[in-house]
Amino acid sequence: MSFQVFNSLTRKLEPFRTLEPGVARMYNCGPTVYNRPHVGNYRAFLFADTLRRWLEYRGYRVEQVMNITDVGHLTDDGDEGEDKLEKQAKKEKLDPWEISRKVAAQFFADLKALGVRPARVYPKASDHIPEMVEIIEGLLAKGHAYETGGNVYFDVKSFPSYGKLSGNKVEELDAGARIAVREDKRNPEDFALWKSDPAHIMKWATRFGPHGFPGWHIECSAMARKHLGDRLDIHTGGEDNIFPHHECEIAQTESFTGQPFATFWMHSKFLQVDGGKMSKSLGNVYTLDDVAAKGYQPRQLRFALIRGHYRAPLNFTWDAMKDAASSLENLDDLVVRLRRAAKDAEGDAARGLDLVAAARVTFEEGMDDDLNVSRALPGLSALRALVLEGKLGRDAAAKALEFVTAANGVLGCISVEEELLAADIEALIEKRQAARKAKDFKESDRIRDELLAKGIVLEDTPKGVVWRKK
Ligand code: AMP
Ligand code: ZN
Repeated sequence: MSFQVFNSLTRKLEPFRTLEPGVARMYNCGPTVYNRPHVGNYRAFLFADTLRRWLEYRGYRVEQVMNITDVGHLTDDGDEGEDKLEKQAKKEKLDPWEISRKVAAQFFADLKALGVRPARVYPKASDHIPEMVEIIEGLLAKGHAYETGGNVYFDVKSFPSYGKLSGNKVEELDAGARIAVREDKRNPEDFALWKSDPAHIMKWATRFGPHGFPGWHIECSAMARKHLGDRLDIHTGGEDNIFPHHECEIAQTESFTGQPFATFWMHSKFLQVDGGKMSKSLGNVYTLDDVAAKGYQPRQLRFALIRGHYRAPLNFTWDAMKDAASSLENLDDLVVRLRRAAKDAEGDAARGLDLVAAARVTFEEGMDDDLNVSRALPGLSALRALVLEGKLGRDAAAKALEFVTAANGVLGCISVEEELLAADIEALIEKRQAARKAKDFKESDRIRDELLAKGIVLEDTPKGVVWRKK
């Protein structure tokens, strides 16, 4: 079976394909940096990372872009409310730019802790004003947008397929009282490309007026175009991004370029907490620090967030964390046992090779089925049962180890590093001392780096070199 993905645009499972053979261009809606992202946001970002890793496993080069939203995302996700960053800035009595720097730094530290493979670029909205203005000008020139008193709106009636992603119909939106009718809009559901507001702190002078800022949706259209081109293979986000955000991105980009924007639109389901919504007032908005305070490692959180299917409901509870941690421990144990069996298993070395191949097929079929991690994982647990029952010969165990290491290239949370024994560390330290004595600093640095890569830090003290675990 080839890789099938659920396309939110067609509401169907479709065989994955790319515009350019072997290259997948993917844009992920990233965080709005007003507050440190919570575990729910990380469900969406880890879904994007798992998708990228699976594409790489399948041999694609992935051109991945994840944006940082630092301006223009209003509290209602549309054209009303306060800018999330400016609201937070007032609360913390800080400059919004300061908030953005602080939160983005936390975000990158979290990504690193969670073992997320870095995207090619993390563009920031505020760095792309000229690119946004270029699209807005193009939309104005083509009659898809109109300017009124410093604001520029997209005219949804100029894009007949508006609603194709979310299933919303313009007439129904029209009738809905949900959208407050702004007097300067032609249609109530028209959305802002550019807004004028002298009181806004993060603002730019353009020919639309001296004090303006972009709408949230145009930011992603402009950043995707700048870093990936007019057409994408995949665009992702959480399910709440479908409307209005992605619907509006499609309308703008497709009206501007005259081409389909993304082939695949993929959306991960929200993470629930204790069976309900995550909200500050309920005190259940957890960050990585809260998870660490309960004694869990980031890789255990990663496993808890990716081990189900990204379109299945997932409920975050401390019991679920505990369960994930213990399942992950079994996978760590699998690696230790396979390593041992690859060295010491007695009898026919090829014993169980066919079973290892079958376990691999289970894993790959699960992942090919729209990244169904929960369908893939039994491939790994099957191996643990086999090695526990002594059903794998040396070659089969070695093959299984190779496969588990590759599978962990996708899961990114099993501890696959070989534990160094104290005696091995001491021996390497001695070797390093000898190299230093011989003034072979290249070799001594190499040994230090080798140890560091295995989580061992060396410290020079008056009493000699001591080591500790990172
Ligand atoms: P934001 O920082 O609000 O722009 O959101 C960043 C990403 O996190 C978006 O793709 C959202 O869809 C996603 N997201 C927000 N809350 C949750 C949640 N509770 N569960 C899963 N994803 C979420
Ligand atoms: Zn976006």
